[in-house]
Amino acid sequence: MLKGKVAVITGSGRGIGKAIAVKLASYGANIVINDIPSSDYADETCEEIKAMGVDSIVIKGDVRKTEDVKRLISETMDKFGKIDIFVNNAGVTRDGLMIRMSEEDWDLVMDINLKGAFNCIKAVARPMMKQRSGAIINIASIVGVMGNPGQANYVASKAGLIGLTKTTAKEFASRGIRCNAVAPGFIRSAMTDVLADDVKQKYFDSIPLGKFGETEDIADVVAFLASDMSKYVTGQVINVDGGLVM
Ligand code: NAP
Repeated sequence: MLKGKVAVITGSGRGIGKAIAVKLASYGANIVINDIPSSDYADETCEEIKAMGVDSIVIKGDVRKTEDVKRLISETMDKFGKIDIFVNNAGVTRDGLMIRMSEEDWDLVMDINLKGAFNCIKAVARPMMKQRSGAIINIASIVGVMGNPGQANYVASKAGLIGLTKTTAKEFASRGIRCNAVAPGFIRSAMTDVLADDVKQKYFDSIPLGKFGETEDIADVVAFLASDMSKYVTGQVINVDGGLVM
């Protein structure tokens, strides 16, 4: 389905990003793993992917820094000569009630989750426009659709990412570039492992399918959005949440 395609996934050393990288590789795509410079997982993930018979490299860099993002794109172009798929997955939480939320925590989450995606889209748009093709997929969150107490910074960043997705879709559609978002619900990963048991239980009770999601559930939908199976789909937000929001 993706044989010979080139996919870049930010924050893909572990978690949902890693699952996306492995899934796209399983369909034949060559993979660029990006993660923060101090990542302990990126090299291991890269080796795992190469063992699947596709090409893979690690380009470390912080999505907040425009220089790092420019290097991510230029080194990918030097190695592979094109970028077919770009997944904005890097994201963090710094939860707390708004009244106690520090300016630093607000800025950090907005910088990585929203400005990071903007930096990447701006940088990858140039080669994709030249190619007159490309699929950009942004990993938002269901809380960006429904709001969530204790996550003002995170919710605002993900709601912003949904707006950015729709604008990107409209600005670049005429150049053959599609842009969609996936909004995960509660997915088992390092990000959700740290939540208190009562918070987990509350989510669990409101999921119609009666189970938490797995990282692979997100990767399956990203693979669809990355492929020609979704060639007439752009500007959409697909909730992958077991029916939590409908
Ligand atoms: P995760 O395990 O914490 O993975 C996030 C990845 O992003 C990590 O590899 C992290 O690096 C990397 N990263 C952090 N800051 C970065 C930066 N500035 N530049 C580049 N990479 C950076 O979390 P996850 O659950 O897989 O989340 C992945 C995405 O899904 C996020 O955007 C998150 O908001 C979204 N999401 C998750 C859930 C869920 O239930 N898990 C629900 C909705 C949305 P390190 O490993 O080195 O820290």
